[in-house]
Amino acid sequence: MSNLVKNGLTKASPQRIEELIHNYNHITSLVTAAAKKFNRDKENIKVLPVSKFKPANDILALYEEPELKLRHFGENYIQELIEKSSILPADIQWHFIGALQSNKIKHLASIKNLYMVESLSELKKIKSLNDHRKKNSEESNDFLKTRILLQINTSEEPQKAGILYSDTNKIFEVLSVMLKECDHLTFSGLMTIGSTDQSKNNAGENEDFRKLVDIKKQILAKFSDEFSENDIELSMGMSSDFEEAIRQGSNEIRIGTNIFGARDYSNKTH
Ligand SMILES: *Cc1c(COP(=O)(O)O)cnc(C)c1O
Repeated sequence: MSNLVKNGLTKASPQRIEELIHNYNHITSLVTAAAKKFNRDKENIKVLPVSKFKPANDILALYEEPELKLRHFGENYIQELIEKSSILPADIQWHFIGALQSNKIKHLASIKNLYMVESLSELKKIKSLNDHRKKNSEESNDFLKTRILLQINTSEEPQKAGILYSDTNKIFEVLSVMLKECDHLTFSGLMTIGSTDQSKNNAGENEDFRKLVDIKKQILAKFSDEFSENDIELSMGMSSDFEEAIRQGSNEIRIGTNIFGARDYSNKTH
């Protein structure tokens, strides 16, 4: 069999494919164990492979593995997402999880199979994404209705994106305007990263994850007519802290390093 697929994408080596599948299976076995330990239904905990800086054929390897049938992948950079989505299968459900500059929103909106954006917090950008999706779907009917997670800055660190945890009025305002005015987006929940200190705090509870759970409770109380428990998913937990995130109720853990290996930032311009 040829090692080329239709867009000239060279397949990863058999060793690399095996390694990726092994790593993914290892994570899911840890998720299963954590779910059991913390009395969670493992069906409510998804693993999102985060493939930033990694080649498209790494993604293809996981996509093509018949035992896994992975379709959801997460990317942080618009340019990388545009390139990868143009050469990878059209039924991949992309999650954008990175910083979004205003002038890149129309590029992001042009990706038909953009399943979810997890990193929005500013109304202006949310409305802009909605308007671009609306325009695109008027021209072609195969644009997915994109799901949105609002990013919350639970650690309130200045370098982190998201609505500040303590600014509950802002969170409510963004959410209610989005529900009223953005009919081409679907609100699906909340995302946070949390501080490195809390992530390393192996002894006790991760405060930042607790804060995300708290915001969910506050939204459920305030918007009780609109939402019930299962309508608001929580995306929290990465390679170094996903077990604690599962303990606290995470529905999606975003895993880069533990699946794809360490990232090489040295020759990247973005
Ligand atoms: C890079 C990234 C991840 C994955 O991080 P790892 O520690 O490599 O698992 C998850 N979420 C966001 C928002 C990221 O930028």
